[in-house]
Amino acid sequence: TFIPGSLLVTGGAGFIGSNFIHSYIANNPTCSIINLDALTYAGNLNNLKGVEKHPGYSFVKGDICDAGLVATLLAEHNIDAVVHFAAESHVDRSITGPEIFVRTNVLGTQTLLEESRKHWQSGAVEDFRFLQISTDEVYGSLGDSGYFTETTPLAANSPYSASKAGADLLVRAYHETYGMPTLNTRCSNNYGPYHFPEKLIPLMIHNIINCRPLPVYGDGRNVRDWLHVRDHAAAVEVVLKKAASGSVYNIGGNNEWHNIDIVNLVCDLLDVRLGRKPGENRELITFVKDRPGHDRRYAIDATRLKNELDWEPARTFETGIQETIDWYLANQDWVAEVTSGAYREYYTTQYGDK
Ligand code: NAD
Repeated sequence: TFIPGSLLVTGGAGFIGSNFIHSYIANNPTCSIINLDALTYAGNLNNLKGVEKHPGYSFVKGDICDAGLVATLLAEHNIDAVVHFAAESHVDRSITGPEIFVRTNVLGTQTLLEESRKHWQSGAVEDFRFLQISTDEVYGSLGDSGYFTETTPLAANSPYSASKAGADLLVRAYHETYGMPTLNTRCSNNYGPYHFPEKLIPLMIHNIINCRPLPVYGDGRNVRDWLHVRDHAAAVEVVLKKAASGSVYNIGGNNEWHNIDIVNLVCDLLDVRLGRKPGENRELITFVKDRPGHDRRYAIDATRLKNELDWEPARTFETGIQETIDWYLANQDWVAEVTSGAYREYYTTQYGDK
């Protein structure tokens, strides 16, 4: 077991990074965490309420492509683990503007790897890990059957997933070429608190509350596997502490849903919570033109993680989705803040001014 003393978490003001910091600090109260985040449209310090009080936590606003800054942080804080969440993460945005995806996801990862390599090779710390957080989307699309395993060839189909696959291969190369102690996790779709409302589940919750149309791509029959973000955070912690250097682990919820079924479920749960008539929210569903290159099905085989590192999701989907809906209802201030300004502009370009 490896217990890092000082973590550099990148992208810790985003959805998954912030949830990871909340849960890691709760589980490891004596740890030190530097959160490096550029605060793009997706980064929000309000995701970290309460965390600022932890004596070992500090925030640095900066870019992962800034090699000088990364080198300074690694050296000054004796970092022995980099947990790399920072990314451009939204497929639709990668279709309209791929360049920033290559810059942040590929060049940013290479910058972190290179500075980490120098820091690790300098012998400044006794042991070291570089953990790359990635996605099942690097494997491409599945037909009606079968699962992605860690040995499924990478076959990314969107500029987003291609940039993540590029980063994953660089991580692999740093292990193979320099022997650097790297780890790579690939997770299915996450849901839960602090999820930016451009993504399916929070978008639906937000629009239902506001009685706005619910845009569903194509025929709504695309299949995704869903995992609660805190279960993902727990899996990342297990991999960081227990996995062998150079290893890759899939993380999934064994919880496949057609998009339309998720939307119907959220509609029905919110009929009850908002005191609306049964079926009322479903009337808001509007099918929109499919996303180009839309992968039909993703499904993760996470057996390796279960068998080797003894990890399983702690929540069922039924409790997780109810908790998530309740969180959004209780945190309308957070939603109002993140949906103002730049997000409105983006939403209008994507779906029109409805
Ligand atoms: P997010 O978009 O919510 O957060 C990304 C964070 O990275 C933001 O805080 C942003 O400010 C920061 N960032 C962006 N560019 C940066 C830069 N150049 N320098 C420093 N910080 C920068 O994304 P998320 O959904 O939390 O995803 C986190 C990671 O997990 C990503 O690497 C993503 O590929 C991966 N992932 C996401 C999912 C999912 O369902 N959301 C599933 C599997 C894997």
